[in-house]
Amino acid sequence: MHNNLITTAVGSYPKPPHLMEARAKAARAQISRDELMDLEKKATEHWIRLQEDLDMDILVDGEMYRGDMATYFAENLEGMDISGLVRSYGNRYYRKPVATGAIKRPKAITVDWWKYSQSLTDRPVKGMLTGPYTIADWSFDEHFGSREAFVLNLARVINEEARDLQAAGCRYIQIDEPAASTRPEEMALVAEGLRVSTEGLDAVTITHICYGDFATVFDGILTLPVDVLDLEMANSDYHLLEYFEDKKTDKILALGVFDVHHHAPESIEAMEAGIERALNVLPGKQIWVTPDCGLKTRTEEESMAKLKNMMQATNNVRARRGLS
Ligand SMILES: [Zn+2]
Repeated sequence: MHNNLITTAVGSYPKPPHLMEARAKAARAQISRDELMDLEKKATEHWIRLQEDLDMDILVDGEMYRGDMATYFAENLEGMDISGLVRSYGNRYYRKPVATGAIKRPKAITVDWWKYSQSLTDRPVKGMLTGPYTIADWSFDEHFGSREAFVLNLARVINEEARDLQAAGCRYIQIDEPAASTRPEEMALVAEGLRVSTEGLDAVTITHICYGDFATVFDGILTLPVDVLDLEMANSDYHLLEYFEDKKTDKILALGVFDVHHHAPESIEAMEAGIERALNVLPGKQIWVTPDCGLKTRTEEESMAKLKNMMQATNNVRARRGLS
């Protein structure tokens, strides 16, 4: 584990084509859940090994067992159902969660997956949860009638899951809130959801935020009750770093250094320049280096090309600055 410019990934990696086919077959009951899980475990191990080969500091399991990040949790909660197909962008359809009653967690959702992936490596593996605000924002509500009540019920459930991860030995718990920046007027609700979700934790807490207009909500983001803010940065040419110049913060910035939408890798030089810009406003101990977002829409080859450049850029900057 490095002391400066710790490297990690946001969460998802691409599923191999044979796993995508197996998921479709399992949905049509053409193969069993056990057969599917066996393939998910093999794909998880594959990504753990690739991350070790890259020499990344904190690993992720790659989310081989998930479809949509909100629906995955909703499927495992009482009081939430899944809708029929809903149209999102263009011709993409997905199934949206629906709150139909008080939300409870019958049993741990991610803990067995975390234990499995952590058993494969000596490096720390992050626990990965979706935040209460994002699950609520991406769902229909047929029960609560108030966004606040919906978010806070989910927050209590996510807190139970986070405590179970911590009890299993997890030292880094990420609670993703990609929807956090979409409604500036609700930033206080995002913060309250995260406060309840992280109650009683002494693990390092992380939240990942992307998509939105950060500038209008930056003060709110900077005071969110987590240790690490994982922010999409390369995609907006690092202009958010300007805001860190004027603010004193003890928080760690997990700096996104490449856009996940392009097929071609960004150059090592461009990523180095981004890391150097961050080092002008924060010390190396307060900067993690990461992609802008999850990589599930890229291929393995594209992801690896980008991650190799990210690692080389990080090592070049460490060497130049004498950072361990
Ligand atoms: Zn993201």
